Amino acid sequence: MELFSPPCPCCAQDEVHHHANYMTQAHGLRTILHCRRCDIYFSETFATPLAGLRTPLSRIIEVLKSRTEGMSLNATARTFSVSKNSVIAWERRLSGIKPTKDALCFTP
Ligand SMILES: [Zn+2]
Repeated sequence: MELFSPPCPCCAQDEVHHHANYMTQAHGLRTILHCRRCDIYFSETFATPLAGLRTPLSRIIEVLKSRTEGMSLNATARTFSVSKNSVIAWERRLSGIKPTKDALCFTP
């Protein structure tokens, strides 16, 4: 039983059905969903910040956590043996998921 299934990216209806599962290289099992209304098949991560990530999410979290704790971009790239461009791309891609505390409390 699925507790959460994303709406169809085409018609935005919630009536999508489980079609199949597939195994990713780094993120375990994923589900292919089917919208009967549009007759399209899509991954559960389609059009989300997680779509197309090839690096394990646990590793990305480690890298971004070190950045939020104050480690510089160069030091992070050197410590985790990743390119600076990858770190910047992960920050941009995942920064909109959770608003910062200051953004929630901001009153003009
Ligand atoms: Zn649809």
